[in-house]
Amino acid sequence: MENNKLKEQDFLVASISQLSISGSASPPVVARFRSDSLLFGSESDSEGAVQFDLSNCQLYKLGSARSLCMSEASDTNKEKSYSRVITIEFRNEEESTAFHRAFEQWKKEVAVQGSSLPNGIVSSSASKFDDKIEASSAKMYFHYYGQLLHQQNMLQDYVRTGSYYAAVLENRIDFTGRVVVDVGAGSGILSLFAAQAGAKHVYAVEASDMADYANKLISGNPSLSERITVIKGKVEDVELPEKADILISEPMGTLLINERMLESYIIARDRFLVPKGKMFPTIGRIHMAPFSDEYLYIEIANKALFWQQQNYYGVNLTPLHGTAFQGYFSQVHSHSISHSNVCSTMYLLMPVVDAFDPRLLVAPAISHVIDFTSAKEEDLYEFDIPLRFVSSTGTRVHGLACWFDVLFDGSTVQRWLTTAPGAPTTHWYQLRCVLAQPIYVMPGQEITGRLHMVAHKAQSYTLNLTLSAKMWGPGAEQGGILQTSSGKLDLKEPYYRMSQPQAYPMSQDQQPNQLLQTQENMIYKYNHMMKRPQICCNNLCDLCIHN
Ligand code: SAH
Repeated sequence: MENNKLKEQDFLVASISQLSISGSASPPVVARFRSDSLLFGSESDSEGAVQFDLSNCQLYKLGSARSLCMSEASDTNKEKSYSRVITIEFRNEEESTAFHRAFEQWKKEVAVQGSSLPNGIVSSSASKFDDKIEASSAKMYFHYYGQLLHQQNMLQDYVRTGSYYAAVLENRIDFTGRVVVDVGAGSGILSLFAAQAGAKHVYAVEASDMADYANKLISGNPSLSERITVIKGKVEDVELPEKADILISEPMGTLLINERMLESYIIARDRFLVPKGKMFPTIGRIHMAPFSDEYLYIEIANKALFWQQQNYYGVNLTPLHGTAFQGYFSQVHSHSISHSNVCSTMYLLMPVVDAFDPRLLVAPAISHVIDFTSAKEEDLYEFDIPLRFVSSTGTRVHGLACWFDVLFDGSTVQRWLTTAPGAPTTHWYQLRCVLAQPIYVMPGQEITGRLHMVAHKAQSYTLNLTLSAKMWGPGAEQGGILQTSSGKLDLKEPYYRMSQPQAYPMSQDQQPNQLLQTQENMIYKYNHMMKRPQICCNNLCDLCIHN
C-alpha cells in the first residue's frame, strides 16, 4: 500500500455526531478518503456530507472505538479556531485502528503532494504499543484486566495496596494542589488515593474496559470525583490537556518486568510528566540469589517421571514421556563452554512462582536497579545482569531465586514495597529459575554466571540463565574446570506452585489463615492465572498499612 498512490478508500462506521453543525448523518455512515479530503456522510444520501481537508484536520482517539476529527479554520490568530468537529463511533476497536492508520497514510500522501501540514502535527501516529506487542496478546491482556475479579485480586493484596496508600498519604505534600496521572488506573484506586491526598486533578488512564467501572466507582465517591477524569485508552495513544507534576502507577509484573508495562510507564513519563516531575514508584530493583531446594527439584523431576508408568489404570503412558520431559526440562541444544572441558546442555525450563523460605538461599543477594525517572524505554527491551556470589555453605545449588522491590521516593517519607522471601507475602510471591543440572559448591566458593533477559511480543521476556562454579577434587588445580548449568525460561509460562504445602513457617498471627490459604490457592491455581498469581487470602496484612 505504501508505494501505490492512494485513490479512494471507504470505511463504514457506526455513527458520527457533529458538535458545530446541527444534525447528524443517519447510519450507516461512510467515511471516505478521496484525493485531499475526508468525507463523512450517509451511505444512502450524499447530500449533507461533512468534508474535511486532509491537509488541515487532526484526528484524536477518545476511546477504543471513538475518535474526534477537527478541522482547523485558520491559524493566523494565536489561538487556533476550529471550524468543524465531529465525533466518530466505530463499530469496533480493530476498525478504529484501521481508520487511524489510513488517516495517517492519506495525510502523508497529501503532505508529499506539496500541501504542507500546518504546524507539522501528526497526532494520529500508529501506536508504539501496537508496534511492539502482538495483537492477540494485547487482546487477552486487556480482557483479563477488564474483569473486576482480577482487579479485586490486586486490591485484596493488602501489602501492595496498603503500601501505595501509605506512600501517597504520608507524602501529601507531593500530591496537594498537583496534577497527577494514574498510569493504568484499573479500578481507579490509586487515583482515589491521590485525590484523598489533595491532588488538584487526577487523569486516570486505563486501556481496558475497567475504565467504565473506574468511572462508576469514582462517581460513587462524590467528594473526590470532581477532581478525577477517567480516560479510556492506552498511555501510548491518549492526549491529555495538561502536563502532570507526578505520575502514579502499579506497573509491576512477576519479576518486576513481566507484562512489559514498565515501558508504558516510561512512555507516560516522556509524554505527560513535567521535567523533574515525581514518579510513584521511583525506582525498582530485581534481587537475585542462588538457592538450594531438593524438594522442588525432585518435584519437577517427578512430573516427568509420571509418564514413565507402564500401567496407569491399565494404560501405558510411556509414549508421551519424551514429550512431557521436554515440557519440564526440554533440551534445546548442547554446546561446550570454550574455557572448560565440561560439556553443558541448554534446557528450556518453566520458572516457578511460589513463596519460599529465605533459609534456602545459599548466598547474599545481588540486585539490579531500574531508575524509572531516567531509564529509556529501549533499555528494557534487552538487558544483561552479570552474576557473582560467594556460597555461604556446601550444598547443591538448584538455580536462581529472584524477587523485586520498588521505592516511593516521597518528599516526606521514603517507602519500599518489597516482595522478598520472608517478608509478608504478596500476590507476586517470588520467582525461581530451576536448572536441570544442579551445581555442587563448597563453603566460600564463588558462583558466577549471567542472567540475560530479552523482551518478546507476548508482553513478557525470555530469560537465559547460566550459573557456573569451579569444580573441586582431582583436576581442579590443573586449570579452572567449571561446572556450568544453563537454561532458557519463558517468563510468560511459569509454574504456579502455591498450592504446595508451604515450607516457610507462618508467623503466629498468620496461622489461622494457613489452611484457608492452601485451599484458596488450590482453587485459584485452576482458575488459570494468566498474568498475576492470585492473592491467596486476606493475609492479615492490613496491619502492614501502618508498619
Ligand atoms: N492501578 C490499578 C491497576 C493496576 S494493574 C491498581 O493499582 O489497582 C495495571 C493496569 O494497567 C491494568 O488495569 C491494565 O489494563 C492497565 N494498563 C496496562 N498497560 C496499559 C497501557 N499501555 N495503557 C493504559 N492502561 C494500561
